[in-house]
Amino acid sequence: MKALSINALTKTYANGNRALKGIDLAVDVGDFCALLGPNGAGKTTAIGIITSLVNKSGGSVEIFGHDIDTELEAAKACIGLVPQEINLNLWEKVGNIVETQAGFYGLNRRLARSRSEKYLRALRLWDRRNDNARSLSGGMKRRLMIARALVHEPRLLILDEPTAGVDIEIRRSMWEFLREINAAGTTIILTTHYLEEAESLCRHVAIIDEGRIIEDAPMSAVLRKLQREVFVLTLARPLSEPPGLDGFDTSLRNAEELEVGIERDHDLNELFAQLNARGIGVISLRNKSNRLEELFMRLVENKQGNGVAET
Ligand code: ADP
Repeated sequence: MKALSINALTKTYANGNRALKGIDLAVDVGDFCALLGPNGAGKTTAIGIITSLVNKSGGSVEIFGHDIDTELEAAKACIGLVPQEINLNLWEKVGNIVETQAGFYGLNRRLARSRSEKYLRALRLWDRRNDNARSLSGGMKRRLMIARALVHEPRLLILDEPTAGVDIEIRRSMWEFLREINAAGTTIILTTHYLEEAESLCRHVAIIDEGRIIEDAPMSAVLRKLQREVFVLTLARPLSEPPGLDGFDTSLRNAEELEVGIERDHDLNELFAQLNARGIGVISLRNKSNRLEELFMRLVENKQGNGVAET
């Protein structure tokens, strides 16, 4: 049995928009899976269907063996969803929000209380339990949505961009928490715009583009496709022409910024050794492009190269 099994799933919105053009996806029990893709690819639509917020047009979805067409309640009971938009009742108390959700899943009052305490403590919100949700910071609101999604202890947790707009420290503590609950047995699927996040957390990645799955593989295999990175180096002193470096492509963006193309696994120390030898000082270094966007571009190019027909 799979945690999630999607077959030939399609969605055409009322306005004729074909958001999903037949996707197949299987997620193993206990997996930590990234669902990636550019804006408008169909990720939110797919999550909406899995969580029964959006009606599908065709195909099937099973959650831990429960078909959403025939066993909707059983399927829903297996899922916890942390949506992209903050959808809390901001005038409600933090503790009540979590307990009320427990009530929706039929937990008795005592269990609702103890679970609420368990997850509010785990997400470092327990001392805010009597405050209105509106008084929480953005990062706290997201953590509250995670506590709410976990209160019925779902076997599958789905997070739609859980760390969007959350500062780096809180992001890392959320990662730590997600790793722990995954290690304890919860299957997790997340969408993100940060490749670093997917890379750090997920073992498996599925990439959607224009309503189709264009990649479904172990994370390590997908990352190997990112063979080349371009860095921008800010120079200590201006140059009039790019230095010729052995094994690296170089070009000048302007007199003080040098772009260097580096093949994966090529040693950055080697780059600096060569620059040093030429007396070229570097003040700072940054990635030219967003690696995730680069990955999408590469996959889309491959897809076109392989002649996948657009229908
Ligand atoms: P993603 O989450 O990957 O950004 P979405 O699932 O939100 O993608 O959107 C997929 C496609 O479906 C887009 O072209 C989007 O404009 C369209 N879409 C999403 N929701 C609706 C809707 N309610 N009505 C019509 N089109 C929609």
